[in-house]
Amino acid sequence: MQQKIVDVLIVGAGPTGLTLACELKRRGIEIRLIDQLPARTTQSRALGLQARSLEVFEKMGVLDQVLDRGLPVDTVHLYEKGKQIGMTSLSILSIAYPFVLIIPQADTEEILNDRLQQLGGQVERSLTLVSLRGNQAKIAHASGEIETVTATWIIGCDGAHSAIRHSLNIPFKGTKFAENFALADVTIPDCPLSRRDIHAFLSSKGILGFIALPKKNQFRLITTFHDETKTADLKIPFLEKIIRQRSKLSLSIQDLQWASMFTIHRRIVPRMSQGFVFLCGDAAHIHSPAGGQGLNIGIQDAFNLAWKLALVHQGHARPELLETYQEERHPIARNTLWGTTFATFFISTPYRFLRHIFFKGLGYLFKSSFFRKQFAATLAEVRTHYKYSSLSWQSFADIFWKGPKPGQRAPLLENADEPRFILLIFGADDYNPELPSELFSIQHLALDSVMALPYRATKPCLYLIRPDGYLAFRTQSLPKDLKKIFKSNLLLKI
Ligand SMILES: Cc1cc2nc3c(=O)[nH]c(=O)nc-3n(C[C@H](O)[C@H](O)[C@H](O)COP(=O)(O)OP(=O)(O)OC[C@H]3O[C@@H](n4cnc5c(N)ncnc54)[C@H](O)[C@@H]3O)c2cc1C
Repeated sequence: MQQKIVDVLIVGAGPTGLTLACELKRRGIEIRLIDQLPARTTQSRALGLQARSLEVFEKMGVLDQVLDRGLPVDTVHLYEKGKQIGMTSLSILSIAYPFVLIIPQADTEEILNDRLQQLGGQVERSLTLVSLRGNQAKIAHASGEIETVTATWIIGCDGAHSAIRHSLNIPFKGTKFAENFALADVTIPDCPLSRRDIHAFLSSKGILGFIALPKKNQFRLITTFHDETKTADLKIPFLEKIIRQRSKLSLSIQDLQWASMFTIHRRIVPRMSQGFVFLCGDAAHIHSPAGGQGLNIGIQDAFNLAWKLALVHQGHARPELLETYQEERHPIARNTLWGTTFATFFISTPYRFLRHIFFKGLGYLFKSSFFRKQFAATLAEVRTHYKYSSLSWQSFADIFWKGPKPGQRAPLLENADEPRFILLIFGADDYNPELPSELFSIQHLALDSVMALPYRATKPCLYLIRPDGYLAFRTQSLPKDLKKIFKSNLLLKI
């Protein structure tokens, strides 16, 4: 088949690939997004959109659609032997979305797919990447024909078994968890558990979690087994027995929509890029579903990469900008992997004394409101920061006593979907730096404006927000040549 040339080839149209495709398309980059599946998955799979992903979706222009279809849940309750032993709530966080939005992965993918179509893109289905040599990808069509695609950039969003990762011989270091995990979506008409909360029951046989699904009376059951239980065993009477055993609740399941049994791995690549090829989402890191982080960090990988790739491809930034993708995202994936491994080990261990020590310690820590806040912020992924990134910069001489620091999430703005850098100039109406308007949106704000409050702007100062909503730079000195600073610190060609 004829050879085709494209700017960016994205392999895999899961949530990660769809996010990347939307964000590149929005910036005018020519993409091809292929997926081996003939149709979108209808499985509910990952359920929780964390607060940070909701902020990302606000920037992408799909927030209302997910909020319409999801169910906000803000509190997690832990029980042992039927008694509550701990509780934490996301509502203690001062953020725009202090909850986890429960929405089936199939719905999230449908919404992203619709957004991509609005932007003039589409998923090309029944196309499988079979090999990669240099920047040439061999793609098999359902008919058996092989197409060669030459792309300037190739992005592997092709999940845990990534063909791109295999083609590049990038190791996927890690191991398998000992437990088997099971998921079941069920209808329980008279469930006494509140639908606005997540309920987790710990027992020596394994954990049992209840998460309400957006449809009336539907719940996702999440459970672990130390034995040889198989998907075929996950029938209604068996699940009712597991509920009785682990939660001491006697509930009748009316209907079982879907069930799946699987083992999970914790694995991560040493590098998330090689030359012009990048790995995002499950292709680069997989871990336990504890805490519901998997789908979310994939979306945020894509969101981090998209603006950098667009700037470099369009000649507005030096190629070194792309090295900050690994620098910023790899530590976050590694920390998530270890955090979820630690939690999974203790909540699912068959050894009661280990669980006991863990939950005694946790119970003690949860008495501190500082710890509860940090824990909730970690779950919501709003503690994620790039403070140590080479893109985050502030002069040593420039002392700010308060206000968000470079590398932290910027307080949300009204024009959240702005794809450019945003330069906020507080209290300096006649300071007008010359910056290219295709890259920068400049906003002058008064020191008594509403926005001055979250930025703690009490005297003239500047804040520069990156296109992905993190702060890159702040100063109180109103420099003469901002261009020079942005050229050297943000690697921009301006
Ligand atoms: C049963 C199940 C339940 C889960 N539950 C949870 C949960 O509760 N919480 C949570 O956070 N996470 C959960 N996960 C994990 C979550 O679904 C993933 O983290 C998320 O889907 C990752 O998104 P992704 O886009 O990176 O990869 P994927 O969603 O795996 O998408 C990869 C895409 O690439 C395509 N593809 C693969 N190879 C090729 C190729 N060679 N050529 C073309 N296309 C290719 C695939 O068809 C697929 O569409 C669950 C996963 C499963 C399977």
